Amino acid sequence: MEKADIKSMLPGEIEKVLFEMNEPKFRAKQIFAWLARGAKDFGEMTDVGRALQEKLRERFYITSPEIQRRQVSKEDGTVKYLWRLIDGNAVESVVMHYKHGSTVCVSSQVGCKMGCVFCASARGGWVRDLKASEILDQVIFAGLDLKTKISNIVMMGIGEPLDNFENVMRFLELVNHPEGLNIGMRHISLSTCGLPDMIDRLRERNLQLTLSLSLHAPDGETRSKLMPINRRYPEEEVLRACERYFESTGRRISFEYALIDGVNDSDRQAAKLAEAARRLGAHINLIQLNDIENSQLRPSRNLKRFISILEEAGANVTVRRRLGSDIEAACGQLRKKAAQ
Ligand code: SAH
Repeated sequence: MEKADIKSMLPGEIEKVLFEMNEPKFRAKQIFAWLARGAKDFGEMTDVGRALQEKLRERFYITSPEIQRRQVSKEDGTVKYLWRLIDGNAVESVVMHYKHGSTVCVSSQVGCKMGCVFCASARGGWVRDLKASEILDQVIFAGLDLKTKISNIVMMGIGEPLDNFENVMRFLELVNHPEGLNIGMRHISLSTCGLPDMIDRLRERNLQLTLSLSLHAPDGETRSKLMPINRRYPEEEVLRACERYFESTGRRISFEYALIDGVNDSDRQAAKLAEAARRLGAHINLIQLNDIENSQLRPSRNLKRFISILEEAGANVTVRRRLGSDIEAACGQLRKKAAQ
């Protein structure tokens, strides 16, 4: 029998297995809590008993990534991890320190299918989806390594989270669980390039997380050039799905908008962006384009003017700080690195 991934299981599911083994079900919570604390082997679960540890080891494996590389920003203390996964693949995560606590930016896939032209994560394409446990591990082991309590999570690393829907939903349940890391949904953001059907499915879950839409252009022509997915799901459809999400969950959407010189930073585009934001009551998060290798695209020189047009139109706008840019840990710079 092939071993199963116990860290992707909820306490209720572990209970069922224990029941089959004639073991008391209260052990499920203990096991789940050990896993959330980063136990790498059943032998560490000292209150579980040797015989049960052995039985569990026969049926399950415990994922635990190795830190293949760790870089610390000299500018702001941001830490970037390259994790080596169980099959030799690798993904990155980033921990940022703010006054209100530490935020981890996690990856959801090895590579990405979406092909956005400004994003390093799209280079090299998609390799595989991460399991729920592998997403959770990024939170657990970054916290343990830094001896820091992680208080916020952004699903803004490598991959398109809504393209790995079931595993991402499971990850959210695991990380939110009171017996586990217990991180509240309101402390979690999920960023998407805009898949309307999946946004609808997310809405049906009625979670209190923040949905961010990587908009990057308010007009279809520009957006399709930057984000090929826009040809399949035009921005109007995506915006309508976001509107439904907001109406039904009451959670404000945020738009991410990386300003690119001469591409999406005109006065007309600012006005159109403000209009889209007003329609949805959305918050606009402006990002200066971060450099990626072999790209003609440059950061905008029109940032101030762009902001002032948005503000005059009454839009709710902030400019995202560029943490960790000296270690290529900023938005869009994460990518799968070959395991060395
Ligand atoms: N696939 C999801 C999650 C990735 S989040 C999504 O598309 O939203 C990473 C964020 O960084 C996205 O908003 C993405 O559009 C943005 N980004 C990608 N490359 C960037 C770059 N070079 N400069 C600034 N932001 C970038």
